[in-house]
Amino acid sequence: MIHPLFDLSGRRALITGASQGIGLALAQGLAEAGAQVVINGRDSERADAAARTIPGAEVLCFDVTDYVAARSAVDGFEAAGKPIDILVNNAGIQHRAPLEDFPAEAFERLLQTNIASVFHVGQAVARHMIARGRGRIINIASVQTALARPGIAPYAATKGAVGNLTKGMATDWARYGLTCNAIAPGYFDTPLNAALVADAEFDAWLKKRTPAGRWGKVEELKGACIFLASDAASFVNGHVLYVDGGITVSL
Ligand code: NAP
Repeated sequence: MIHPLFDLSGRRALITGASQGIGLALAQGLAEAGAQVVINGRDSERADAAARTIPGAEVLCFDVTDYVAARSAVDGFEAAGKPIDILVNNAGIQHRAPLEDFPAEAFERLLQTNIASVFHVGQAVARHMIARGRGRIINIASVQTALARPGIAPYAATKGAVGNLTKGMATDWARYGLTCNAIAPGYFDTPLNAALVADAEFDAWLKKRTPAGRWGKVEELKGACIFLASDAASFVNGHVLYVDGGITVSL
């Protein structure tokens, strides 16, 4: 039995980059709260496999960096009578290199995937939400929205921008009945972090540095996402919710 404030029955949620990792966990969480979920990714076989793990899930594949394709996929989906009530802008990538040697093309790829996509996919979906006078946008930020780390300055720049774009979305779109918030995960064991998880020195550092003393489990992000997508968060707007075991509040 779901508390009525958190019940997402009758709502449809599009989650970008949901074929694995955090996106898949968020899709599972939203579905468990009653939403009909739509899995996005570039690799359709992987997206189909992920969708098969969630009853009633649909698939909508496009590359979030191709904003013409993204707009057309969203418009086509809406035109087919499938309104998107909740958008989770989750697709994101990482690239690690010393800043002085950071390849320009990797910087560009990070910008396109981690922040330009939030603008383009957000705008494509928000236009339909605005016409309906309601909608929920949840952007996936990071602890790097607030803090830097060696070797990932461009990633930190994109995630800082996700935090501020979220505030801008809330500022422009609250009047149309939309709420736009961000979830900022700490360190979670996903394919994106495979190199860090395998690095014993980093693993030990992280456990010492995080007040909770461990990596996050992707299931621990479900609650924040359900909350922000639900009626329980109807007056929460422009917020960046850190789910990080306390790492951003301690030295
Ligand atoms: P992940 O395991 O690498 O999964 C990334 C997902 O995004 C995959 O489903 C991938 O599928 C999809 N994707 C990548 N590029 C895409 C594109 N251009 N268009 C559409 N889909 C694309 O990553 P994750 O760890 O779950 O991270 C998800 C988000 O959380 C990212 O924004 C990341 O920055 C953020 N985050 C992660 C952590 C962490 O600890 N893991 C911490 C803070 C923030 P395809 O390859 O099939 O497209």
